Amino acid sequence: MRFHIITIFPDIFDSYLKESIIGRAIKNKFISVKFYNPRDFIRGNKSNYKPVDDKPYGGGPGMVMRAEPILKAIETVVKKISTLSRKRVTPQEGNKKILIINFIPSAEKFTTNYAKTISKKYTDIILICGRYEGIDARVDKILKTKKLSIGDYVLTGGEIPAMILVDCVSRQIEGVLGNFDSREEERISSSEVYTRPEVLKHKNKNYKVPKVLLSGDHKKIEDWKKREKNDKINK
Ligand code: SAM
Repeated sequence: MRFHIITIFPDIFDSYLKESIIGRAIKNKFISVKFYNPRDFIRGNKSNYKPVDDKPYGGGPGMVMRAEPILKAIETVVKKISTLSRKRVTPQEGNKKILIINFIPSAEKFTTNYAKTISKKYTDIILICGRYEGIDARVDKILKTKKLSIGDYVLTGGEIPAMILVDCVSRQIEGVLGNFDSREEERISSSEVYTRPEVLKHKNKNYKVPKVLLSGDHKKIEDWKKREKNDKINK
């Protein structure tokens, strides 16, 4: 899977992509992540220089990211993908399938199920990270982007949503997690987990691991995890 991130702040991603599971996935070539800065796609000299953002039509306090630098950046990505795909040897690899995602707080929610679907369906995912009041809506109309939200809150930019998507889609790719079957969604997992010591002493109080987890009875343990999960969902 190749991720292509359109952002005016590529450095934000640096440490996240170097560490742990995602860092290893890049090193072992299960995924790749490339950046394209819309600022690099603004042509002109001092007299006709235009910034990446401009005032919104209809008024309003914030600025809007201009369509042209983003469209040019994506055009470059698509050309690059075509070249890469031609170099691939097997017909399957040569068959490029590109998804373009624009992050919008009020759009359809991104889910693990969606991550699973797109991890199988596409070879390349282009992620547009909006800033300010967002990007000129004509980008969506021209490119027919998939609009996604990561939750009911507003962040300052699309970089964290892009990182979330890269992380969640990557763990659906076989080889990225040490043990593919260890994905929580493929088994009964619980958010209430325990490790040693069996009895934790804290400020004169003892905090014990639930007895069932020490029982060795797998059926009982699975039932407990199921119940614990359902209780939390229904709260
Ligand atoms: N004016 C926009 C609106 O009302 O939808 C919000 C713009 S927000 C300040 C700037 C950028 O952050 C957005 O273009 C989007 O890329 C990203 N963003 C913020 N919150 C997000 C969320 N919950 N999900 C996905 N993207 C988000």
